[in-house]
Amino acid sequence: MPHPAERRLVFRHIDEPGYTPDLPCYLRHGGYEALRKSVARKPEELVDEVKKSGLRGRGGAGFPCGVKWSLLDRRSGKPVYLIANADESEPGTFKDRYIIHQDPHQLIEGIMISCWANQVKQAYIYIRGEFSQGARILEQAIAEARAQRLVGPDILGTGYSCEIYVHRGAGAYICGEETGLIESLEGKRPYPRIKPPYFPAVLGLYQCPTIVNNVETLCHVKHIADMGGEAFAKIGTLNNTGTRLLCVSGHVRRPGYYEVESGKITLGQLLNDLCGGPPPGRKFKAVIPGGSSSKILRFGERFKIRQQDGSTTDWGVEDIPMDFDSLAACGSMGGSGGLIVMDDSTDMVAALANLNAFYAHESCGQCTPCREGSLWMKKITARMVHGDARPQDGELLKSVADQIAGRTVCPFGEACAWPTQSFVLKFGDEFKGGADARKHPSAAGPALV
Ligand code: SF4
Repeated sequence: MPHPAERRLVFRHIDEPGYTPDLPCYLRHGGYEALRKSVARKPEELVDEVKKSGLRGRGGAGFPCGVKWSLLDRRSGKPVYLIANADESEPGTFKDRYIIHQDPHQLIEGIMISCWANQVKQAYIYIRGEFSQGARILEQAIAEARAQRLVGPDILGTGYSCEIYVHRGAGAYICGEETGLIESLEGKRPYPRIKPPYFPAVLGLYQCPTIVNNVETLCHVKHIADMGGEAFAKIGTLNNTGTRLLCVSGHVRRPGYYEVESGKITLGQLLNDLCGGPPPGRKFKAVIPGGSSSKILRFGERFKIRQQDGSTTDWGVEDIPMDFDSLAACGSMGGSGGLIVMDDSTDMVAALANLNAFYAHESCGQCTPCREGSLWMKKITARMVHGDARPQDGELLKSVADQIAGRTVCPFGEACAWPTQSFVLKFGDEFKGGADARKHPSAAGPALV
């Protein structure tokens, strides 16, 4: 059951008893009515609705969806493609797969409305290779929708045709980056492309203009088409409109999924009221607020934030509103909405070693600072964990991270450097000292994820 403090749009029906992922159930709950309304409107009106809604992408960057759509370069007359990014590989993030498993038609309806708005005739759902069950569910749902003329030729008798194909990746984190994803979809090794010139809106899939939107973003499009952009913009706060799916894991009593109005609850309310607080006898120590690549926040640190009216607010971690801009103002980010919570039993060196092992494994290897740097960060934190640290290792670690961020082809450089930079900055004491100081408790300590 949803918590009373939640506001559910995307997850409105998902946990209702008897709600199943098949088409008859979706239709009984008003499914595809938004598509029916949309195809009776001009495509450009829908683009305007999405712009008015203020919807920001939910995959990580928070870029305005309507603006992304209006950047499509149609001068060449080439076909336009739409890709639903269902790669969802950011550690700590597990919302999109829940939509796919429990409510696949909501995603399909969102895709079809977005395709009509942008006059796309061919769409892909790029799904992470490991999500084999999700891929099967989507293929089944697309077949059901095609049989009812909701996907495929002559949609709802309008003469408009649009196909959706499910494409399974092979399980690489970098395929969540849009240009790496496009390379993979073209059958190549997923090396991210250099921007410029390879902005997907201009030179995307098969060198054609392409929209890449996250699964949750496309589901919100369905609700915008249903209620109108202005009504959607009244949910949440200015510049952070609508609801946000948050996935909370780690040291809380009630981990799981929550859908809340953007910016209307604080991090403290989320973790204490909705998630039930820390485990018995423990206190919160830190939280990664937007997927593992976002900078960590330490409970106890304070942020002086200048407000729009010129006044200054003093926030603790618990006071930060859960929206893109507030988390960015505190030096982190809302990212993918995946929160990883750590209590005072957590060994921060072990936690960072875990993350660094992941990033070293997932670097695509195309650029030297990321390929070599991520490996060195893994090696240094691993020797700290095993009690083999050298006296200068804390500083060395930070220096390696500083030489990656901002020097790479794709944002993975920042994604792998930010955890190290923020862990060492905020938990410096735990990273100090050589082998004697670091007979590390983490050998027997808790694993982070
Ligand atoms: Fe590949 Fe890393 Fe360079 Fe991105 S930053 S292109 S993941 S090596």
